[in-house]
Amino acid sequence: MSTERVKCLIIGSGPAGYTAAIYASRANLSPVLYEGIQPGGQLTTTTEVENFPGYPTGISGPELMDDFKKQALRFNTDIRPGFVTSADLTERPFKLIIDEEKEIIADTLIIATGATAKYLGLESEEKFRGQGVSACATCDGFFYKGKDVAVVGGGDTACEEALYLSNLCRKVYMIVRRDVLRASKTMQERVKSTPNIEILWQHNTKEITGTDEGGVNGAILVHKNGSERRIDIHGFFLAIGHHPNSELFSKWVKTNEEGYIVTEGKSSRTNVPGVFAAGDVQDPNYRQAITAAGSGCMAALDAERFLCENK
Ligand code: FAD
Ligand code: NAP
Repeated sequence: MSTERVKCLIIGSGPAGYTAAIYASRANLSPVLYEGIQPGGQLTTTTEVENFPGYPTGISGPELMDDFKKQALRFNTDIRPGFVTSADLTERPFKLIIDEEKEIIADTLIIATGATAKYLGLESEEKFRGQGVSACATCDGFFYKGKDVAVVGGGDTACEEALYLSNLCRKVYMIVRRDVLRASKTMQERVKSTPNIEILWQHNTKEITGTDEGGVNGAILVHKNGSERRIDIHGFFLAIGHHPNSELFSKWVKTNEEGYIVTEGKSSRTNVPGVFAAGDVQDPNYRQAITAAGSGCMAALDAERFLCENK
C-alpha cells in the first residue's frame, strides 16, 4: 500500500469541502481533497438554487458546484477522486485509507462528508429501489413523465421535489405525516398553489406495491386515525431528510445523539486536536449551502492556526 504525508486533508467535495480547500490553498497548506462518491455533494441532485448569495438570478446546483471546484482548482487544490474507507485518529498525524489501497498521513483533517438521504426502512422500499423508488427527483423524475408519483416528507426538499415533479408528471401526491409542513413559507405557498400537487396530510406509508417486471404501481397508506387507502403511482420519492456521514470518525470524534459531529463553541474544532468538521456533518440546525461554505472557511482558518501553534 502506498503512503503519502499531507499537511491538510479535506474529505468531501460539497460547499464545505471546496470552501475549506479555497481557504487552505490560499494559506499555503497544500490541501488534498477527496471527492467521495458524490462529487459536488448534495447540490448536484437539485435544479435551481435561488438562495446562494452572488447569483441574483439563481443557478443550477451542478453549475454552482462546478464553480466551487473551478475556484478551488484556481488555487491549485489537489482534488482527487476517492473515498475514505477507514480512519485512525488515535494520534497525530492521523492515518486514513483511501479506497482500501492508499494510506494518507495527515497533520490536520477537515471532515466535510455531509449527509445522506434517509429511507423509511420498509422491505418493499428496498425491493423497488431503482425500480420506482428513488431519493432524487431531479435524477429520476424524467422516467415518470406523464405518470402519477408520490413524494414522502414535508420539508424543503420534499416541496422542491414535488414542485419539480409537478412539471413532469400528471399528478404528485405529497405524503406528510403531520398536519403541517416543516418547509419554509415560500415553499409551502408554492406547493399549495400548484394544482397537480395533492397533500395527503397525516399519512404514513405501510407498503409500496409493484411487480418484478413493471416496478412500482402503488402505495398503501395509513391515516393517523388508522384507516388505510391505496394510491396508484409509478414513482415513490423519499425526501425525509438526511443522516450525517460521521460513522467513520465516531470512535474518536464526539457526535450528538443523531450522529452530528459536535464542534467547540463558535469554531470547527472537534474534541480531537487537529481534526475539524464543516458543513452538514456537524450542523443539525441550518443545513444550507451557504452555512456549509461558511463553516468550511472556518475549518481551513482553524487548521491553519492549529498548524502554526503545533509545528
Ligand atoms: P454535501 O453537499 O453533502 O457533500 C458531502 C461530500 O462528502 C460529498 O462530495 C461526498 O462525496 C463526500 N463524502 C462523504 N463521505 C465521504 C468519504 N468517506 N470519503 C470521501 N468523500 C466523502 N441548500 C441551500 O442553501 N439551497 C438550496 O436550494 C438547497 N437545495 C437542496 C436541494 C436538495 C435536493 C438537497 C438534498 C439539499 C439542498 N440544500 C440546499 C442543502 C445543501 O445541499 C447542503 O446543506 C449542502 O450541500 C451541505 O454541504 P456539505 O459540503 O456539508 O456536504
Ligand atoms: P428536513 O427539514 O429534516 O425535513 C424532513 C421531512 O421529512 C419532515 O417533514 C419530516 O416530518 C419528514 N420525515 C422524517 N422522517 C419521516 C418518516 N420516517 N416518515 C415520514 N416523514 C418523515 O429535511 P429536508 O427537507 O431534506 O431539508 C434539510 C435541510 O436542507 C433543511 O435545513 C432545509 O431548509 C434545507 N433545504 C433547503 C432548500 C432551499 O432552501 N430551497 C431546499 C432543500 C433543502 P416532520 O416535519 O414531521 O418531522
